[in-house]
Amino acid sequence: MTNVLVTGGAGYIGSHACKVLRAAGYVPVTYDNLSTGWADSVKFGPFEQGDLTDRARLDDVFARYKPVAVMHFAAFSQVGEAMREPGKYWYNNVCGSLSLIEAAVAAGCMDFVFSSTCATYGDQDGVVLDENSAQMPLNAYAASKRAIEDILKDFEASHGLKSVIFRYFNVAGADPEGEVGEHHQPETHLIPLMLDAIEGKRPALTVFGTDYDTADGTCIRDYVHVMDLVDAHVLGLKWLEQGKGSRVFNLGTGKGFSVREVIDHSRSVTNRPVPFEEGPRRAGDAVCLVSGSTRAETELGWSPTRSTLEAMISDAWRWHQTGHYDR
Ligand code: UDP
Repeated sequence: MTNVLVTGGAGYIGSHACKVLRAAGYVPVTYDNLSTGWADSVKFGPFEQGDLTDRARLDDVFARYKPVAVMHFAAFSQVGEAMREPGKYWYNNVCGSLSLIEAAVAAGCMDFVFSSTCATYGDQDGVVLDENSAQMPLNAYAASKRAIEDILKDFEASHGLKSVIFRYFNVAGADPEGEVGEHHQPETHLIPLMLDAIEGKRPALTVFGTDYDTADGTCIRDYVHVMDLVDAHVLGLKWLEQGKGSRVFNLGTGKGFSVREVIDHSRSVTNRPVPFEEGPRRAGDAVCLVSGSTRAETELGWSPTRSTLEAMISDAWRWHQTGHYDR
């Protein structure tokens, strides 16, 4: 069997990636320090608990499993926290990734799939965001991801490391079979917070800013179903296996929804009222982030099939109602 090292495999996106890797015939080896992940989300392959900055531990894991590739999801990812504690983001995300990249190269594991973010583009009013757009991060989270992209380019030039970099737009939804789902602690993302408010687990959703220069005054995002997103990762892995070389891909649908539109869809999917209140803007937020590229479709053959707001909200809602979400 072919091993793939999955950092952050106990987290939201990483655990879904492990599920599709296993279905595609790989063995996902999760490497996770459980700072934000959950041991019981590691269901599809071995689990090695460890920190990315622990180089000796990484070397041992590479030596024992001899993975053919790395999928690197492990990172801190909250915009608000990144504005308050930038050092945490620079240290964990950049130093951790550098340690991982050096360990991979030392072990001769030269195929690397990296989860980056559309937040690296920042606010670019009226600009179509494709992979060649300028990167102008607005917060330390996005800046740390941008820095890791640069490290990967340098390691290709010097060591021949090949990378597929995915710039995610907003990931949502859950495994429709309910084996894994989203549970951040604390939760900061729009859709799960909204479902919490609908269920009465928190008093109300706060809409961060209603005075933006958009049709209804709220921020616009491009939402992608987590199962579609992780499918792209398997295609990215095969792309590298086929020797097609390093490439950057946006992962978004090209369709944006405002916060108010997401609230409206949640109301109709769940058939329940959404308690919400209007609040101030959240520092570090871009007004509008929507992908303007079809490169993943045309080059990788990616075909997102579940990325409608209805499917994302209903899959997340089903997961919420299983009780797995409450920890
Ligand atoms: N948002 C909001 N209230 C919340 C959480 C998020 O209004 O409690 C907004 C946020 O300002 C952004 C959008 O919802 O415009 C998506 O935010 P999220 O944190 O889910 O993802 P991000 O865009 O930061 O990756």
